[in-house]
Amino acid sequence: MSDLPSPTQGVVLSESRDRGMGQAEVIVVGAGVVGCSIAYHLAKLGCRDVIVLEKGSVGSGSTGICAGGIRQQFSTEINIRLSMESVKFFERFEDETGHPADFHQNGYLILATDEGELESFRRNVALQRSLGLEVYLLSPQEAKELVPQLNVEDVLGATYCPTDGYADPHSVVQGFAHAARSLGVRIYQETEVVGIKAKGGRVVGVSTTKGEFRAPIIVDAAGPYAAQVGKMVGVEVPIRPSRRHIFATEPIFSAPDPVPMVVDFHNGFWFRREGPCIIFGMRNPDEPEGFDTTVDWDFLADSLAYAACHRLPFIADVGIMKGQAGLHSDTPDYHAILGSVPEVEGFYLACGFSGHGFMHSPAVGRLMAGLILNGKVDIDISPLSPERFKTGMHAKEEGFI
Ligand SMILES: Cc1cc2nc3c(=O)[nH]c(=O)nc-3n(C[C@H](O)[C@H](O)[C@H](O)COP(=O)(O)OP(=O)(O)OC[C@H]3O[C@@H](n4cnc5c(N)ncnc54)[C@H](O)[C@@H]3O)c2cc1C
Repeated sequence: MSDLPSPTQGVVLSESRDRGMGQAEVIVVGAGVVGCSIAYHLAKLGCRDVIVLEKGSVGSGSTGICAGGIRQQFSTEINIRLSMESVKFFERFEDETGHPADFHQNGYLILATDEGELESFRRNVALQRSLGLEVYLLSPQEAKELVPQLNVEDVLGATYCPTDGYADPHSVVQGFAHAARSLGVRIYQETEVVGIKAKGGRVVGVSTTKGEFRAPIIVDAAGPYAAQVGKMVGVEVPIRPSRRHIFATEPIFSAPDPVPMVVDFHNGFWFRREGPCIIFGMRNPDEPEGFDTTVDWDFLADSLAYAACHRLPFIADVGIMKGQAGLHSDTPDYHAILGSVPEVEGFYLACGFSGHGFMHSPAVGRLMAGLILNGKVDIDISPLSPERFKTGMHAKEEGFI
């Protein structure tokens, strides 16, 4: 290794002197919540020779923008299972990592405004209950009892899961990173992967802006940039990056507290409390694919404000303090892509989380670590296989927000 990476700001070099600085058993590309969880779980399973390479700083990608929502109310078994396992992990996050997650189990209340939605809510609740989730189908009046400020005039029904909630994404990603480092994982920040090297059909290492690193296993956990990283080794990753916003009101001390995360299913408008403020967002059906993360204030004025004032009328007179935007990584079936690829040995994908990567990060970390180290896992993750786009997709996630 001629061009050894030099320590950069924030790097914690916990490796022993005799361990090659640029060599590891596993390299994880991306120190978002997914990459850090995978690194932590690898180390926990005994593989401590792990390097995480991050072009910015820990949590500086989508994780740092995300709303922190954690729900178990999905339409497919695999997503429900990933969520249920992850909720259990978030409940013991501090014991496990030594770092608080600021997990509030205030529930998720999801509103249906047409018969088709209500019908799919009934199906989802039946599936969720069959998997052991405590979840309820509510009337509009029952939804209003939970959040009296809601306008429910057009609501036909709702689902509510009291153990859903939200946590602080910054605390969680730092918790995983901290716990991983304490088990010997090396995290190099400001170190961008610019190329992947393969020999004889298998990966052998990466080139970065700080030099070269070698490992027989490389995990692409680069969030919305995962397709670019895949391309470096000739792997096509079908994810669509698209901008999502979060706006925060000025402090409203009369706002309901505690309040569940409320979601308007038909347009994806959501809100929850954040300290004394309300934070909210909505998907934009006209958002083009791309990496733009500037705040589109016209979207707030033209569409989002209408949806917000309709569902939560008292918000009409409240000032907006802040707006920020980040990227979703959506796949054609709105499920993550997890596993090794057939094109090149030793290359794994953990990406395409379609808006669920934060909430699924604990289970994803455990499963990826098991897959990499033992070649098998205890949950059927075939619906998430990288090959499904060629061999046939399973059901689409209907609960895509
Ligand atoms: C506005 C918004 C709200 C959201 N709300 C929720 C929510 O409520 N609940 C939920 O579960 N999810 C939510 N999400 C989605 C969630 O943020 C993501 O699914 C999750 O953060 C994905 O984590 P990640 O580690 O895969 O990606 P990231 O956090 O993006 O991490 C990937 C990292 O890879 C790095 N990287 C990229 N390319 C390279 C390279 N070549 N070399 C080195 N490093 C590289 C990036 O800098 C980045 O830090 C939301 C997203 C947005 C934008």
